[in-house]
Amino acid sequence: MAKALDSFLEENLQQLKSQGLYNEIDVVEGANGPEIQINGKRLINLSSNNYLGLATNQELKEVAKRAIDQYGVGAGAVRTINGTLDLHDQLEAKIAEFKGTEAAISYQSGFNCNMAAISAVMGKDDCILSDQLNHASIIDGCRLSKAHIVAYTHSDMDDLRKKAREAVESGRYKKIMVITDGVFSMDGDLAKLPDIVEIAKEFDLITYVDDAHGSGVTGKGRGTVKHFGLEKDIDFQIGTLSKAIGVVGGYVAGKRKLIDWLKVRSRPFLFSTAVPPGDVAAIIAAINMLMDSNELTEKLWENGNYFKEGLKQLGFDIGNSETPITPCIIGEEKLTQRFSKRLLEEGVYAKAIVYPTVPRGTGRIRNMPTAGHSKAMLDKALSIFEKVGRELGVI
Ligand code: PMP
Repeated sequence: MAKALDSFLEENLQQLKSQGLYNEIDVVEGANGPEIQINGKRLINLSSNNYLGLATNQELKEVAKRAIDQYGVGAGAVRTINGTLDLHDQLEAKIAEFKGTEAAISYQSGFNCNMAAISAVMGKDDCILSDQLNHASIIDGCRLSKAHIVAYTHSDMDDLRKKAREAVESGRYKKIMVITDGVFSMDGDLAKLPDIVEIAKEFDLITYVDDAHGSGVTGKGRGTVKHFGLEKDIDFQIGTLSKAIGVVGGYVAGKRKLIDWLKVRSRPFLFSTAVPPGDVAAIIAAINMLMDSNELTEKLWENGNYFKEGLKQLGFDIGNSETPITPCIIGEEKLTQRFSKRLLEEGVYAKAIVYPTVPRGTGRIRNMPTAGHSKAMLDKALSIFEKVGRELGVI
């Protein structure tokens, strides 16, 4: 190894470890359901994005197996050569129907989708107004675009309006975009989309909403844009197929013209192999399930509200979540890590989220109760939170 690389790694890894910021990777032995096994120990799982339990759904497993038998395990090429199978076409029509838009394009992941979509439309003569707490993939997508990036204070509409006005009045930009998560993943709060749309209309801003944590969850499962009834007002509706939908992939839903452009200009679509057919078939079936019935989404909210109320009653700070995402804010990084470790020893897997994923001093246990959890599991988890909370002086 080059000496420069060796010393860079040694120094930086040591620093992270001494600050309690180095996350060890946990290996799950078997399926990622409401309970998981790690190091031979069964644990209540409060850290997956498998909101509706679809990642391990029996019917979807069967659908994927049949598609593998028919099509094989890989798509064989990038979408623009001959990796577009009829299944991909069906998936994109299904996403558009689900989201209430003219068309949709799918990608290999939600992360990839943000890298693809932002840079396909925005460039060095443009400006992006980005919520300060937007997801890492949005931040990276913005950087890749080479547009001028202006962060606005989280959900502060006065700050957004002021920055939009400054951008317009500077006369420097051809296009200006406002970009936000629909549901903020670390706090569970919703973007103020009606205000954002109003500001966008005032200043002719392109609107971009990444609803990775909203689809299948908010808007009776149809997402945060639908929750606010703004399907006609948002240019880019972004989502992931890896969380509530339970499989893998990302998408943009919007006007036909926009999707046509992304199909010829977004680089991961052009240069990276398409999602495998087994996955695509399972995603189509999952979306069909959500369109046929609200049952799983309702169960998710019931469990989310139950768990949230339980933690609140115990005296924990659960922030201002408006969704089933339930942060339990501990504060200092090392204490947060210790809290999570003690939960694990007692039988709950609930990951500590610390800087740089969240601002320093706001370390938290982010709980994701799902539709798949039983009341007994949630009660057991609550009693373990109580025990550890008292032991570490958090409550
Ligand atoms: N956007 C947001 C807001 C997310 O929370 C995530 C997932 N962490 C992503 C994009 C990335 O999605 P995926 O895991 O499908 O790549």
